[in-house]
Amino acid sequence: MAYQRLLSKSGGRISEDDPANGKYAQLVHQVGKELAAKSPRDGLNYEFALVNSDADNAWCLPGGKIAINLGLVLNMEKETNDFGMEKLSLKEKVAAVLSHEISHASARHGGRTIERNLFIYAVIKALRYLFENGDQEKEHSEADRYLDKIIQGSLALCQSREHEYEADKYGMHLMKSANINPRAAIWLMEYFKEHHQNLFGIEFLSTHPLPEGRLEKNKETFQELNPQKVV
Ligand SMILES: [Zn+2]
Repeated sequence: MAYQRLLSKSGGRISEDDPANGKYAQLVHQVGKELAAKSPRDGLNYEFALVNSDADNAWCLPGGKIAINLGLVLNMEKETNDFGMEKLSLKEKVAAVLSHEISHASARHGGRTIERNLFIYAVIKALRYLFENGDQEKEHSEADRYLDKIIQGSLALCQSREHEYEADKYGMHLMKSANINPRAAIWLMEYFKEHHQNLFGIEFLSTHPLPEGRLEKNKETFQELNPQKVV
């Protein structure tokens, strides 16, 4: 319920037979499926959506509901700078984003909190239904506002500093098990450093790590995964 709501609020899902961008939706679906098949946590029903938004962003909701914006995919395709690395394909770059989000979902970042809050939401709705058999419309809009708060809260929880480092690291492990070059996660941080320096200039509220910090950690992870290669 939260996923459909957030997808439409973020710009809407692009279908795989969309004449202009369907090929990107297919790519997202394919790469997501390959990575999810190697995810260590079974039982999650992963879903991957391409969202019609220009912003360089991607997100996940607990339970494995993942989205990546068209803007980020197109901008990564447009970026010709290899940042001193071997040429990486768009598939590898998309995999760097999706594997990070899969790791958030798999590690249940924010999951327990949203589950508890959704339970409270259900209780409130049930009680209102029992005791206030009156203004249905008012009840719906208040419940929807509460649901939006839960969704926002859950997205914010996915962005703590430790969770970001953890999702980067296990995302790279996941890429390696799916036979996708984990160096793409280093490329992704170079990309963010290049294009979003102003956005991340100060580590706001000390909860969101700078791309520089994540870049260095991703290089370390790459070295752990490939002791024979030079970063
Ligand atoms: Zn993240």
